[in-house]
Amino acid sequence: MTNPFKAEGEFIKGNLHTHTTNSDGEFSPQQAVDHYREAGYGFLALTDHNYLTEPEALSTDGLVMLPGEELHQGKGELGQVHHLVAIGMTEHIEIPPTDDLQEALDYIAPRCRFAFIAHPYWTSMTYMDILGRTGFIGIEVFNFTCEAGIGRGDSGSHWDQLLARDRILYGFGVDDAHCHYPDSLGGWTMVKVSERTPEALYEAILAGNFYASSGPTIEDVTIEANNVTVRCSPCQAVHVIAPGAGQGTTTRRLARDGGPYTQVTLPVGEAWDPIRIECVDERGRKAWTNPFRTR
Ligand SMILES: [Zn+2]
Ligand SMILES: [Zn+2]
Repeated sequence: MTNPFKAEGEFIKGNLHTHTTNSDGEFSPQQAVDHYREAGYGFLALTDHNYLTEPEALSTDGLVMLPGEELHQGKGELGQVHHLVAIGMTEHIEIPPTDDLQEALDYIAPRCRFAFIAHPYWTSMTYMDILGRTGFIGIEVFNFTCEAGIGRGDSGSHWDQLLARDRILYGFGVDDAHCHYPDSLGGWTMVKVSERTPEALYEAILAGNFYASSGPTIEDVTIEANNVTVRCSPCQAVHVIAPGAGQGTTTRRLARDGGPYTQVTLPVGEAWDPIRIECVDERGRKAWTNPFRTR
């Protein structure tokens, strides 16, 4: 897999999951654009429920807009309806009603540039709901409104269950802002691009040239034969997550209340593949790399 930290270009910050008054959000589409642009974001997708909010009509002033929707079809093991985020369509995607997640994904995939599964932890998806499905590139490893609303924003465990079975998926960080309570500017995705255009963002995301964050910045990751070196904003812990039983390590092995760390080198065991990195700051906010193949 690609290493975004070694790719050409600059990281730009964006949110791929937001609601407006075109579904159940509080912001008008223009207010959402202004809110994220003023906060320094470089790209944004307005993903109303089963509704395409056309970005062309908005005054964006340099904020790159990606068309998006949150779609709802397919039922999980526990009977819940799945939430799927699709990005880069040219018209509204109306999925024929189905309880079958794969049928929904098969309908979505050719009609957008990419799709990912929203907030699996919040929706009580099981990893078995996701394993074996195709037509999407990742899951939301972090969803801020789910964290701020009910404390179930971090779907890292779902991700690892899939990675442990060699289902290599990307992890997105998003707000899913509705603004019924403070739920914006708390989860985002940093994408490495060589130019600020929708096409450059699509290509970078499809290639995995991004990482997710709810706070920390990851500056560099270098994978070598038996170790990984991470440079980041000051963090109180850096984890090497390897999804096999008992695998992985963390700076907490070295010093339980250590840090702040801005550069660490940690060992990578012989059988650890894939690995991913999590950086945790003093407020417990995290940054998540995509998985790296080590073998
Ligand atoms: Zn949702
Ligand atoms: Zn949503």
